[in-house]
Parts: sequence; structure tokens; C-alpha cells
Amino acid sequence: MRIWADSALLDGAFADHVLLEVDGAGTLSAVTAGAPRDGADLVLGTVVPGFQNTHSHAFHRLLRGRTNADGGDFWTWRTAMYQAVATLTPDLVHAVALAVYSEMLDAGYTAVGEFHYLHHDPSGRPYPGHDMELAIAAAAGDAGIALTLLDTCYLSSGFGAPLGPEQQRFGDGSVERWSERWYDLRGALARQFPSVVLGAAIHSVRAVTGPDIEQLVAALPADVPLHVHVSEQRRENEDAVEATGRTPTRILADAGALTDRLTVVHATHLTAGDIAALGAAAVLVSMCPTTEADLGDGLGEAAALAAGGARVTIGSDQNVLLDPFTELRALEGGARMAAHRRGVFSPAELWSIGTANGFTALQPRGAVGGRLVVGARADLVEVDASSARTAGSAPDQLMFAATAADVTRVVVGGRVRAASQTADLAAAAFTQYERSRA
Ligand SMILES: [Zn+2]
Repeated sequence: MRIWADSALLDGAFADHVLLEVDGAGTLSAVTAGAPRDGADLVLGTVVPGFQNTHSHAFHRLLRGRTNADGGDFWTWRTAMYQAVATLTPDLVHAVALAVYSEMLDAGYTAVGEFHYLHHDPSGRPYPGHDMELAIAAAAGDAGIALTLLDTCYLSSGFGAPLGPEQQRFGDGSVERWSERWYDLRGALARQFPSVVLGAAIHSVRAVTGPDIEQLVAALPADVPLHVHVSEQRRENEDAVEATGRTPTRILADAGALTDRLTVVHATHLTAGDIAALGAAAVLVSMCPTTEADLGDGLGEAAALAAGGARVTIGSDQNVLLDPFTELRALEGGARMAAHRRGVFSPAELWSIGTANGFTALQPRGAVGGRLVVGARADLVEVDASSARTAGSAPDQLMFAATAADVTRVVVGGRVRAASQTADLAAAAFTQYERSRA
């Protein structure tokens, strides 16, 4: 398979007339700039690597456009989310995840990290055969998106207090039981969905105490991606200091969790010491600007984190919007408003944030991808550089002009995804959801 692009983003800069050769496994076997288009199987215009969505809760899509009438904040939104959780079955989770992952692909995301804590049935019992996890893996496979399933440990309603009745579906009871389920799930995925990457997550320092975090880190293979929500809300910080005398970041550091395989999600309300510690450990940071704006969370200090050595990525979190260009623009826009200047992140840095950095957050150490290089999976996105929005834009600045509507073709593993039935999939998921609530 030979794909020819009029212009393609190669290692931070656009090159003209790029030939991308793809082997039988869907991997790039040669990348050549200045190549003739003769003999190409597929001719594309302006091409960038597939975007990497480092933080998703697929089922939160069920709340989009339905929770904005009565004000509130993160915590009142969470109450509405818990009401949605109550009715979800593996079938319904498959339906909504299929709709969301299809929408993601249409928007240019070729990989997603699903931060997954809805493990158990409504009475809190595990499903006998990892039904929820396999439903999500099947949805990703059906949609055609690469999945990193971040199976999440969630033990407490807050700093050791027992789970509330509405949280029973999230809990395994102990790190041992979570870990047993994780290793068993790893076997099940290897047999049925071998392309899924199984990662791990700690829900937050609210939900898993310091000693339990230490035990979890010790139980995990060293190269597995590990994610955790950190300091999304001021209240989490206040409660952490009250319960332990330490910030959430300090709790993670003391438990040995701050390493370059960790992705901290949100990282909104940090102290200078937190920022220094996260940078020194070269963690990855998943910023979710459209969700943080939707929930009124606050503005994280992305620029300070990056300057200190952390690697920033983007996530769609509650999936209130699926558009990597808007996510990058909102990240840079927030940083500009905080700094009172333009160009806080350069266009080249923003492309990396959307692609290569995200890949690092979602893959085991040492994997190659998120860039158009030999050895990477041929995951790429064609962007219409001559639409009403984008005409005249320099290619490297397209994230300041384009939206997801300018994604014309998405190639995964060297194959163009056929136009999907995304609206129908979303409608079908909502029909099933409303029936479950009737
Ligand atoms: Zn989240």
C-alpha cells in the first residue's frame, strides 16, 4: 500500500509530496519526502498523524447537552452522572461507546485512553467474564479506533471512607482484588482483543489512599501506562491536606507513583512544589480544556508544567465535545489568557501535544508511534486546508483555523475508514438508554 500526501507533518514540520509506504500489518515501512505520486494507491492532501485522546469516559456522552439548565458545579454534575451509571448494562455501554468512538474517529482521533471504573453490576458484584471491559473493547474494535483500556482502581468515597451506595459499581474492595481482576482481564483481552493495550488507573487520591497506591504501583508491570485524576477540584486539595497534611501530588510522590510512565489528568489546582515535582518526574499531563470549561473546573498551568519538564497531552474526558483542533486551541487560548501574550505553545509544540505526547501516554514504554515514522502504525488524518474555515492558513497553523468538520479522511493502519453512521449510532444508544430508564 502506497499513500501519497501533497503535504504531511513529519517531525514537527510540514514536508511536500510525501510517500508513505505501508506493510501488510498496517505499519509504515518507508516515509519519503519529495517523492512522485505515480503509482500511489491513495492520494491525499494535507496530512497529520492521527490525534491521540488520552482521557475519555465514554458513557459520560449520555449527559451531553442535558445538564446545563440549573447551574451547579462539578459535584452537582457528578450527581447526574451517578444517576446515569445506575442503569448501565454491558450492552448499553457497548452502544454508547460505539457511538462515541465513531464520533472520535470522524473528528481525527485514531486512539483513545478509556479511564474505566464502571466494572461491576448494580449490586457491586463483578460480572463473571469481564463483561463491561469486553464490551468497551468490542466497541473500539467495531468503531476502528485504537484502545488503551485504563482499568481503574476505586476503593473509597474519600480518603479511606467506604464507598457510597451510588459508587458500589466502581469498587473492588482492595488493591489485591483489583490486581487479581486486572491480571485476569489481561489474559481475557489477549485472547479476544489482542490489539487492546491494557493500562491501569488510580481514580484519584480521594478514592485510593497513599498506602494502597504504593501497593498498586508495586503490583503493576513496570512498563504499563498508569493514569490518575489529580487536583481537578480545589475541594480535593483541601480534603487531602485535611486528611493527610499533604497535597494530592505529594501523596502520589510519597507512594512512588511519580515516574515518566504516569499520566496525571487535569492537574488544575497545583502548588509551585507540585509543579516542580511533576516536571522533575517527567510525567505526562492530560489536559481536557473543553471539559474543564464545561464543568467550571479552572485553568491548569500547562505552560509551567511543560517548562518544568512534564509532557502535555489532550483528552476529551466527559466527551461533551469531540474535536482535537478545538481542544488544542482551547489549551493555547487558556494559556494566552493567563500569560497575557500569544504563542505560549508554538504550533509545533501543539501538534506534539495532540499526537506524539499522547501516544507516549497511551502505550507501553518504548513503543513507536504518534508520528509519521518508519515502524509506527499508519494512523493519519487528512485535513481540508481549503475550506471556508481553513483557506489561507499556513499548514502548521491549521489548529488555529480548523475544526473536526475539516477532517476529510481518517486512515487507520493504512486503511481509509469508510464514512460511518455516527449519528445513527448515537440515536440508537439514546433509544436504548431512555428505554433503560423508563
Ligand atoms: Zn476523568
